Amino acid sequence: MSLLIDEEKKYLLSKIRDVKDFPKPGIVFKDITTLLKDKEAFNFLIEHLYNYYKDRDIDFVAGIESRGFIFGAALANRLKTSFTPIRKKGKLPYTTISEKYALEYGFDEVEIHIDAFECDKERPNVLLIDDLIATGGTAKAAIDLINKAGANCSDACFIIDLKFLNGTENLDKKSDIYSVLEIS
Ligand code: AMP
Repeated sequence: MSLLIDEEKKYLLSKIRDVKDFPKPGIVFKDITTLLKDKEAFNFLIEHLYNYYKDRDIDFVAGIESRGFIFGAALANRLKTSFTPIRKKGKLPYTTISEKYALEYGFDEVEIHIDAFECDKERPNVLLIDDLIATGGTAKAAIDLINKAGANCSDACFIIDLKFLNGTENLDKKSDIYSVLEIS
């Protein structure tokens, strides 16, 4: 496990674009497409995550739709693990299990395939990844879903943590949480 020094965090943060008032007034959207466009920065991030997780006995990386797919699939391939998509309701074609979570107004739901974690291990270790944690509602539902599906969500990783929303405090304490970049 290796952590980034301040200079490296500043470097990655400088590659993320702030888009004000998207998708609605008052929100500052953290746009990671500018980081993905920079091949050195994208590679630096994935290599960092690889070094952080390579000795953690991860069997699956699970990415949350949709930006979690990008980092999750790249990291799973680097770690030589399997990748599992966690999707919004109604997108996965086979039999699914789901978990509801509250939004500011109403509910949303995440799903995975019922056999997503079937493998030669009884309770495989899963690393959950998403681009950003805000209130933590999405990540909490995803962790609960992974555990409900018979796996062990041993780790959860976020590229950006909006610290002032305290999202990680809502997550299951059994998972090890790592936020690469914190915004206070
Ligand atoms: P939450 O459930 O409140 O933690 O929201 C996390 C999900 O919403 C993640 O999948 C993020 O990609 C997305 N999200 C929330 N706030 C932002 C933001 N300010 N910029 C970019 N993505 C966001």
